[in-house]
Amino acid sequence: MHWYEMKLRGRGRTNSAVSQVCRPDRVADVPKYLEQVGHNGVVMRGSGSSYADQAVNTDGAVMMSGRLDCVRSFDEQTGELVCEPGVTLQTITELYAPRGFMLATATGSGRHTLGGAIAANIVGVNGHQKTSLAKSVNWIDVVLGDGSVKRASLTENADLFRAVVGGQGLVGAIVLISITLAKRPRENVLVERRRVADLNELMESLKSVRKNADFCSVWIDTAARADAVGRAVLTSASFTGEPVSVPLFSMPKFRLPLPHFALHLASMPFVKNLRYRFASKDGTRVEKYESFLYPLDNIRVFSQKGVYQLQASFSEAEGPQAIRRILTELSQSRIGACRAVLVLTKEDDLSYLGSTLRGYTISMDFIRRKGLEDFLKHLITVVGEHNGRVSVQDDALMEPRNLVLMYKQRLEKFVQARDLYDPQKKFDSDFGRRLFAKERKDEQ
Ligand SMILES: Cc1cc2nc3c(=O)[nH]c(=O)nc-3n(C[C@H](O)[C@H](O)[C@H](O)COP(=O)(O)OP(=O)(O)OC[C@H]3O[C@@H](n4cnc5c(N)ncnc54)[C@H](O)[C@@H]3O)c2cc1C
Repeated sequence: MHWYEMKLRGRGRTNSAVSQVCRPDRVADVPKYLEQVGHNGVVMRGSGSSYADQAVNTDGAVMMSGRLDCVRSFDEQTGELVCEPGVTLQTITELYAPRGFMLATATGSGRHTLGGAIAANIVGVNGHQKTSLAKSVNWIDVVLGDGSVKRASLTENADLFRAVVGGQGLVGAIVLISITLAKRPRENVLVERRRVADLNELMESLKSVRKNADFCSVWIDTAARADAVGRAVLTSASFTGEPVSVPLFSMPKFRLPLPHFALHLASMPFVKNLRYRFASKDGTRVEKYESFLYPLDNIRVFSQKGVYQLQASFSEAEGPQAIRRILTELSQSRIGACRAVLVLTKEDDLSYLGSTLRGYTISMDFIRRKGLEDFLKHLITVVGEHNGRVSVQDDALMEPRNLVLMYKQRLEKFVQARDLYDPQKKFDSDFGRRLFAKERKDEQ
């Protein structure tokens, strides 16, 4: 068993810590490593794409799943894939898209490991059609704190399943996954992009997109003010039998890291204005499904200062009002988000902490600066006032009281399952201590 010291951080660079790190080569090694874990427990870590402290463990242990990346079997008839948690979404797409299969969820990036994606119960740009990734998971094998392995599904150890899915690695380590890949209806997608002038037009357009499109994402100009609040570029896409369009000119795809300055530019009102105006009023093109996927992997932007992400879900009824309030506050305060994207979601109550409402999910990225944390904490309160939920997967600033207010009985069930399956709190992280500190204190 080999451990070494390493400084690890969240993708947003707002949280970092020195930890004892191990990289098991085989699933059978996971319980052996667990035996050696001491103070502050251990957290699993996939590709480390969560923004904040979800896969960070100060003075504790971190178990990297990267080497647990074997595909055990694939059934061409049913689409059932059995694999280890370190396999990335991109790898699954590369292996099985040519055979006509796809993952149920189309996410922004393919770099996430399947284990990390299930532990966050990620939502994609087809969230209004297919719900979460976890809906397609048949079962998972979970190594618990005492080293035992339990199979969990919606019919077997359902409380464990519901707690581990979306549970941010706080209950156990996912070591084997059975997931059903869907048959892809067609090879190509017809992508439509159009500008919408304000929030009313956006909400109206989304009604028909929800019914008719397979995929949808909306870039929002967070600097737009007054009547223009909510102006946006709406991208929708559906599978098509049409051949791929060959453009006369296309922007090169950078797979390069771009410096902090690029993020700063993206936050500036005049750049947002240009982006809005340069988006064609109505544009369509046909793309291969694989090229349409994982748009955020084309450009990798980072900031030394750190980036916070706030992702919040609202019901269909509360969404328009809540989103208008957030966007209005953003433009009035002149705090520029470097990215704001809205997707549609479907009701999904499969996971205790990773559930979504039928409605809207908005995610916004902000470069860290003075006063920002207080403003984002205020926005978290606004989300609560509109009966929304801040997603735990990339959050850096929620406090236990926000979690109680937003997750209510789901939180209680999560805590019960965690107490049952990991009474020693062998699995823990900075995220766990930040949001579940109260339970810790009560136990002591
Ligand atoms: C560019 C980019 C695009 C993104 N796009 C989307 C998107 O479209 N939709 C969306 O919902 N989210 C998105 N996210 C958020 C991200 O997908 C999730 O946070 C996801 O969990 C990251 O997977 P990972 O392998 O990097 O996990 P990590 O960041 O390494 O870990 C995330 C959490 O999962 C736990 N975990 C990891 N492996 C295991 C395991 N084997 N067993 C138990 N727990 C485990 C960790 O302990 C941690 O709490 C995006 C993030 C980035 C940076």
